[in-house]
Amino acid sequence: MIPIAKPFLGNEEIKAVEEVLKSGIIAQGPKVLEFEEKFSKFCGKKYAITVNSGTAALHTALHAIGAGEGDEIITTPLTFVATANSILMRGAKPVFADIKPDSFNIDPKCIRDKITDKTKAIITVDFYGQLCDYEEINKIAEENNLLVIEDACQAVNSDYNGKKAGSFGEIGCFSFYATKNITCGEGGVLVTDNKSFSEKARYFRQNGRSEMTSFEYAGLGYNYRMTDISAAMLLEQLKKIEHITQKRIENAEYLTEELKKIKGIQVPIVKDGHRHAFYLYTIRVKEEFKLSRDELADYLKKKGISSGIYYPKPLHLCGHFRKFGYKEGDFPVAELLSKQILSLPCHPSLKVDELNTIIDAFKSI
Ligand SMILES: *Cc1c(COP(=O)(O)O)cnc(C)c1O
Repeated sequence: MIPIAKPFLGNEEIKAVEEVLKSGIIAQGPKVLEFEEKFSKFCGKKYAITVNSGTAALHTALHAIGAGEGDEIITTPLTFVATANSILMRGAKPVFADIKPDSFNIDPKCIRDKITDKTKAIITVDFYGQLCDYEEINKIAEENNLLVIEDACQAVNSDYNGKKAGSFGEIGCFSFYATKNITCGEGGVLVTDNKSFSEKARYFRQNGRSEMTSFEYAGLGYNYRMTDISAAMLLEQLKKIEHITQKRIENAEYLTEELKKIKGIQVPIVKDGHRHAFYLYTIRVKEEFKLSRDELADYLKKKGISSGIYYPKPLHLCGHFRKFGYKEGDFPVAELLSKQILSLPCHPSLKVDELNTIIDAFKSI
């Protein structure tokens, strides 16, 4: 079976973890600090605060900006559930805005329609690895005095005109979950230029303790700390990130070259000036195609190719968000796309013959 995702790990990560284990400092320590320094530079931001998941990064970011009860936070309905759950964790209200059919990203025009005097922030999601329309979104945010939190969990090392993912909002959030472009199994990080936000994030991740050496509390906090074991892996992953990104792009281009010729298949659209990091290579299976999306997924499975639907149900139709009064038909683009999308393998370890197996499977339909 050709897997949909595979972590790109080697002896370098094994050695780095071994060194940490032998050092005796296995929780948050010097490796975490070193990774924070390197990752903030990588994103072109002043501060990086590691945490132990992307979900924790989002929750921490919303704490840092002071989002809470009575606030509305605008986000996309087509995303991983953690994006919107983080809003609920703060007792705020998730307000969805529809997406664009070309990029799968939140539509700035729809954001405008959803702004009220309660709106505090927008959580943008750089979906599948391509950045949102930040020129427009940041303009809307500025005009309406809103903060932008960038959920860049799928987009590490993507960029727009050379400016990297995570640097477009007030705070950028990343995940290092096992399927993500760089990984330590479970992990996350926030980046920002705002000193006050960085300090709030720092105490929030360590039970509210202003310093790890003190028992003074700046407020409520959680235990969201990353370990040096994870950070040591990430330091190695960061050295490989260009290679990983380049490989994903090459694999995506290879698939697109052939799949774009097939009637009823819409290949991913890479917008002008954008570097798409291809966390997921996602096609749209339209009505003109010979098989339905689900039949295609079954067919590929029989041919030894795994595929995935990210995500099958827009969040406004999921139980714990429906209670805000959302119903079918509220976000027609997200609803249509969720029925058409199918992600195919494009991870960096794929061999040419595996890519050809995928292409041949399509041609044999
Ligand atoms: C992976 C992901 C998250 C959550 O990350 P975890 O590390 O799994 O908690 C949040 N948002 C998006 C868009 C993601 O893809």
